[in-house]
Amino acid sequence: MVAWPDPGRGSPFPGSVAQFLLDGPGSGCHRFLTARGVAIQGVALNVAVIGAGPAGLFVGAALARRSHRVTAVDRDIGPGGGGEWARRGVMQFHHAHTFRPQVADALLAEMPLAYKCWLDAGAEPVTATFDGRDRMIGVRSRRVTFERALRSAAVQVDCLQIRRGHVDGILTRNGRAAGVQVDGVAFDADLVIDCSGRAGRAARGLGGRRTVGGNCGIAYVDRQYRLRPGALPGPMSNPIGYMAGYDGYMVVVFPHEYRLFSTVIIRSTANRDLIALRHAAAFDAVARAIPALAEWTDPAIAEPVTSVLPGGALMNVYRGQSDEDGRLILPGLIFLGDAVCTTTPNFGRGLTTTMMQCTELLALLDAGPRHLDDVGEQFDQWCDAAMLPWVQDHMTIDDAQADRWNGHAVDLSKALPSDLIVEAAAVDATIGARIGPYLSMQQGPDSLAALESRAHAVFAGGWSPAPPPGPTAAQLSEIVTIALASP
Ligand SMILES: Cc1cc2nc3c(=O)[nH]c(=O)nc-3n(C[C@H](O)[C@H](O)[C@H](O)COP(=O)(O)OP(=O)(O)OC[C@H]3O[C@@H](n4cnc5c(N)ncnc54)[C@H](O)[C@@H]3O)c2cc1C
Repeated sequence: MVAWPDPGRGSPFPGSVAQFLLDGPGSGCHRFLTARGVAIQGVALNVAVIGAGPAGLFVGAALARRSHRVTAVDRDIGPGGGGEWARRGVMQFHHAHTFRPQVADALLAEMPLAYKCWLDAGAEPVTATFDGRDRMIGVRSRRVTFERALRSAAVQVDCLQIRRGHVDGILTRNGRAAGVQVDGVAFDADLVIDCSGRAGRAARGLGGRRTVGGNCGIAYVDRQYRLRPGALPGPMSNPIGYMAGYDGYMVVVFPHEYRLFSTVIIRSTANRDLIALRHAAAFDAVARAIPALAEWTDPAIAEPVTSVLPGGALMNVYRGQSDEDGRLILPGLIFLGDAVCTTTPNFGRGLTTTMMQCTELLALLDAGPRHLDDVGEQFDQWCDAAMLPWVQDHMTIDDAQADRWNGHAVDLSKALPSDLIVEAAAVDATIGARIGPYLSMQQGPDSLAALESRAHAVFAGGWSPAPPPGPTAAQLSEIVTIALASP
């Protein structure tokens, strides 16, 4: 096993704590090594981060600011000098994104330079007035713009190295994480943080993690456009974008920076006909047929700047830090970001849950327990309490939506899913007055429980949300068939 090459940035500590403990001379070493593993208070750790996506770069930079010595390894080559960044293996990178204020807040707290770079690159904070005060409610930006900003700030952080390589697996020593294997070479670390995303496989050899959920039965297909000079944007259903449920599908439009915007059609994966939306002729025909999308994408108003982008399988999945018996998968290894939880993206929650996790982990490392194992266990408990409910919320929403997309009425024999409780606010203003903390993710899904009976009464009274004007999913299938049959 070898230590990471020195980053040459004046790192305040010459080697790994673990290596020092295990190999180094002197009795003073032993004050760090305890029955619970590596003690962390006042000790500079050697940290290996798997993945230099949002979670990896953010937590890596934040730990490096705390004088830990961090190396983030990513198989991706990184952004080139031009505008292109293929970012293979991160399917969502090219898909429509919107950013909640928690993402901006996290950057301002830990990586203010990244926030500045983001704004310099055109990101547009959106504000709204609440109780007479202006508050940020989101940031309009493409994902590529966000990640470029994050990366350009991260490369300037002392004690953080970003290395290209594929992490093949996690090294263990005495039952603890001891480093990572990168392209066949072993590197030591006191703490390994797995930020390898929703499809990460670096830890697969370590045994099964406690897992809830699976595929959500929904697929994305989207395309980016730019508004022509002087053209006005299309309809918005809220200050962040346009979101509407139609008969058998959903439509989202997210404005980004510099008059760019993404249009998304969200379909059931069971609707095989709509797979053909990946063809530009089919996508364009459908965009013309849905009035709100037609307004946004009218060729006189906007021009496409990408091809049609079909998405891979979307998931509602929670994976804990521990196995089914509640034992940490590996002491000294922490999973973070999408490696812990992913939710259907239509509510734009993924980067917020990622930043919430990073913030909590940093708080535990800063002020909490004295040992890494305690951090792992406490973080696991926090994830169960704060992250799992969001995944379960989306599972309930998506299951109920699949039923409705299959032609069933709202099932009043069960508790209503959160999206329908929110919809009922259109009829019962007392619901509307109390859903804000859920919508803004200041409170979890259980904050809606007290409103369920009121929403239930709304639906039991025969009301249901009317979709905006537009074709049904069955009619979309016909439009797609005709478009593809046309010469
Ligand atoms: C279609 C779609 C749309 C979305 N829209 C939104 C949105 O609007 N708003 C929002 O907040 N969230 C959205 N999300 C969620 C958001 O994209 C994720 O929450 C976010 O990417 C999580 O960041 P991460 O760093 O945990 O993982 P990732 O972004 O997946 O990064 C993981 C990194 O690990 C690297 N990696 C993986 N394995 C290895 C290995 N073995 N060796 C080396 N490197 C490795 C990868 O190359 C990658 O760089 C969306 C997700 C999807 C699928």
